Amino acid sequence: MVLVSTALASLDSLNNLKPPFTLPSLGYGYEALEPAVDAATMKVHHDRHHQAYVDNLNKQNVASDQTLIRLFKSISKQPDGVRNHGGGHWNHAFFWTIMTPVKENQAVPARLQKEIEGAFSSMDAFKKQFEEKGTKLFGSGWVWLIRNSKGALEITTTSNQDNPQMDVATTSGVPVFNADVWEHAYYLKYQNKRADYLKAFWNIVNWKQIDEYDQEALKMLRKN
Ligand code: MN
Repeated sequence: MVLVSTALASLDSLNNLKPPFTLPSLGYGYEALEPAVDAATMKVHHDRHHQAYVDNLNKQNVASDQTLIRLFKSISKQPDGVRNHGGGHWNHAFFWTIMTPVKENQAVPARLQKEIEGAFSSMDAFKKQFEEKGTKLFGSGWVWLIRNSKGALEITTTSNQDNPQMDVATTSGVPVFNADVWEHAYYLKYQNKRADYLKAFWNIVNWKQIDEYDQEALKMLRKN
């Protein structure tokens, strides 16, 4: 039996991960997000795909005092392996936390709802734009809700395992929410229907965690 974790994660702890990198636990069972995300997908995604990013990142000879965020800020000067596997590790570690089977955490906190409505006019308009950008992204990558450098909420995408905090990001910002749109994230259940996966995805989003990330992102931007 897997205990379901209701503890909230932080951007700061993720950004400050150092070698040796390790696979974080999901905090819920592989089957916990059914039917939106199936157990077989969760198991192979976490145990094999994410584990491979961690293992390959550990082969990159990253200095023991180096943090993921410092690598991201200088990623254009780092080897491709650090960009691909460092991004892969961060993006997945974050992704597991923004999904939850816990009903209370699936309710959108009033503060966050107001922020999203302010930026996108309504929750439905936000979801529609997020789904559209995720569906239209060509090839493998991620769709993100970020706080951009002006502190505004914005939806953006990155290719492969790039992260909005990397110096190569075309739209940079602090991640608040993401969705994996690599085929490995949905193919077993949805085959080529990425849009159907993204639609079902809303049922298991951890809005309480996203509200926490958003408040942290705003504090980080005020400090810079
Ligand atoms: Mn993935």
